[in-house]
Amino acid sequence: MNPHWNGQFSCFHLVAKTDEHPATVVQVRDIEIGGDDFVVMAGPCAVESERQLLETAESVAVAGARILRGGAYKPRSSPYSFQGLGLEGLKLLRKAREATGLAIVTEAMCPEDVELIAEYADIMQVGTRSMENYALLEALGRCGRPVLLKRGMTATLEDLLRSAQVVVMNGNPDVILCERGIRTFETATRNTLDIAAVPVLKTVSHLPVVVDPSHACGVRSLVPVLSRAAAVVGADGLLVEVHPAPDQALSDGTQSLTFAQFHEMMDDLRPYLALRGEAHEFREQVTAGRSAR
Ligand code: PEP
Ligand code: MN
Repeated sequence: MNPHWNGQFSCFHLVAKTDEHPATVVQVRDIEIGGDDFVVMAGPCAVESERQLLETAESVAVAGARILRGGAYKPRSSPYSFQGLGLEGLKLLRKAREATGLAIVTEAMCPEDVELIAEYADIMQVGTRSMENYALLEALGRCGRPVLLKRGMTATLEDLLRSAQVVVMNGNPDVILCERGIRTFETATRNTLDIAAVPVLKTVSHLPVVVDPSHACGVRSLVPVLSRAAAVVGADGLLVEVHPAPDQALSDGTQSLTFAQFHEMMDDLRPYLALRGEAHEFREQVTAGRSAR
């Protein structure tokens, strides 16, 4: 391990990896995130209608996803864009869970909404724009549901772990970190996927780490290859946008996969998942090196 990391991250003692606390496995219904399984969360950017959500849920479940994503409250860059269905969207997510058995991950944008959303969601998502909303993080610390914490688009890994620490110190140990791409000078992709974030976070923190390739690149053609990269560097899962008709999506259509593309991506992931074990072995060596130092 880079000796600098010890000092840099050890102040976040509740989320830093130690010999006593090497790994957190977040239990969501019968799903374990941060253990041996590679857990795929998939679905539309935004819940738009009953038909759109149920069709997507059924399709991603058949392909092997375990968790359905879908925003009911949407933090849109433009105030003129579709803002989500709100409570109606939450009710549709619950219906999709009943129909498919998939667990639900959906975003909370403000502390006032946390209690209501926690009644419907299995995992509470914190979006990139909210990573430093400390009032929200504190409320999520008390919400009784696991939290999927997305990295702020201009946040360092230290910033991300600081936010994770806020959730944990307010009473919630079940935090899943999410690398979703950061802002750089590159413009060919929507954001820049910081793939190194995965092995760094998995080395310095005990929390599970998932990758969101959809928001990282912004174009659907790159999502499968970035998903493979995430598996190979040892991520614990993915968060992927899928839509029945991406060109008509009310949000993030250009980066959403069709059902066929998602199924193909899941099939093609298999050989890469076998390589996750090697990433874990590498990490154990690095961690052992730290202990020996
Ligand atoms: C989303 O998951 O649809 C979303 C808004 O993500 P992010 O916060 O990463 O932009
Ligand atoms: Mn989106």
